[in-house]
Amino acid sequence: MRIIVQKFGGTSVDGERSRSKCMEHVKREIKNGYQVVVVVSAMGRKGEPYATDTLLSVVESTYLSNREKDLLLSTGELISASVFSSYLCKNGIATTVLTGGQAGIVTDDQFGEAKVLSVNPQRILEELKSGNVVIVTGFQGQTVTGETTTLGRGGSDTSATALGVALNAEFVDIFTDVEGVMTADPRIVKEAQLLKSVTYHEVCNLAYLGAKVIHPRAVEIAQQKNIPIRIRSTFSESMGTVITNKTETNHNVFKERLITGITQTPNLAQIKIMQDSRDVQAEVFRAMEQQGISVDFVNVNESEVVYTVSEEMAENAMRVLAKMQLRPEIKRNCAKVSVVGGGIAEVPGVIAQVVATLAKENITILQAADSHTTIWVLVEGEQMGKAVCALHKEFGLQRAVDYLEFRKLRQKVL
Ligand code: ADP
Ligand code: MG
Repeated sequence: MRIIVQKFGGTSVDGERSRSKCMEHVKREIKNGYQVVVVVSAMGRKGEPYATDTLLSVVESTYLSNREKDLLLSTGELISASVFSSYLCKNGIATTVLTGGQAGIVTDDQFGEAKVLSVNPQRILEELKSGNVVIVTGFQGQTVTGETTTLGRGGSDTSATALGVALNAEFVDIFTDVEGVMTADPRIVKEAQLLKSVTYHEVCNLAYLGAKVIHPRAVEIAQQKNIPIRIRSTFSESMGTVITNKTETNHNVFKERLITGITQTPNLAQIKIMQDSRDVQAEVFRAMEQQGISVDFVNVNESEVVYTVSEEMAENAMRVLAKMQLRPEIKRNCAKVSVVGGGIAEVPGVIAQVVATLAKENITILQAADSHTTIWVLVEGEQMGKAVCALHKEFGLQRAVDYLEFRKLRQKVL
């Protein structure tokens, strides 16, 4: 059996016009001889009737346990799958709808953020054998004791690649509202370019640092079995971005591509605590951990401890620190802007170039750090867009679209 998994995101299934586009993709692959497994997200984005965020807003979430919240949230995909099923049936395509649990997705019991433990594809295979298109509700699974769980933000991407691996699919196609993985978020950078082929590693780096076009966990799952992912537009026929462990040219991309893209993470708060005679750093990070507050951008020196938390967690973090008799300073509405690329490590000038570019734009760097594949800067939230655009331009990403271009650019920088 040649199997293909097609995942349709929220904006791809939110109305008649988009559903008809999704159906064209299903029909084409049936014609190409594939057995098709569809994974759907809840319909639409925040504010629309059956979107995940809307479902969350129908209750006061403090009065709902995580288990019950997952039951509520899982209905968004159930509605979406049923609607898409009826649409395909109306157009002569036989379908079966399966929940995550029925599709064999077994998770742990971390409600709201469950991890996929295993996938038993038996039921899907049976349905495919009888000639049906199988529509699976994304973003959800079931524990061994039969509890419904959800997989966290971007969870439908994870459903799709986990099924792709279990079914040994030829491709997992993630359909969305952009052409593919781009050199920056096209909502911020008009000139962002499509990356036709990237490695699992590169796209994971981009995704962890804020490019929310695919969830990084989904990429890691596909990578384990080398299942190719294609990120494509629902609204066109183009191939989008192919994610494998190779580039088009079979060259090791880390040797060739200096910078893959620029990403951003908004809504961060920077916390600063003076180090007095007592050694506060260990206490601070232990307290944050106990409260389940994840910290990032940690800088510790003799006089102060500096780190960032998400805006959502900021108040809680400040409360905890006050209880510890500390006097923290907080700077709200910050954003992390990252320059991501496997070639950074080899080229000593990149960080200086980042600093100079932002200085020219009068953008203050609140904090900076680097690793062998990334340079991060923390800036004020209002300056995030300007910073992303300036860095995108500085590194020539508006035109450096193919292998040869990257190579030339790299030679120039070296
Ligand atoms: P879906 O509902 O289909 O899963 P998402 O909103 O999760 O869609 O992901 C698609 C969005 O990701 C795009 O609309 C785009 O704004 C955003 N995005 C952020 N960074 C990038 C990037 N580097 N390349 C492409 N899209 C990006
Ligand atoms: Mg998504």
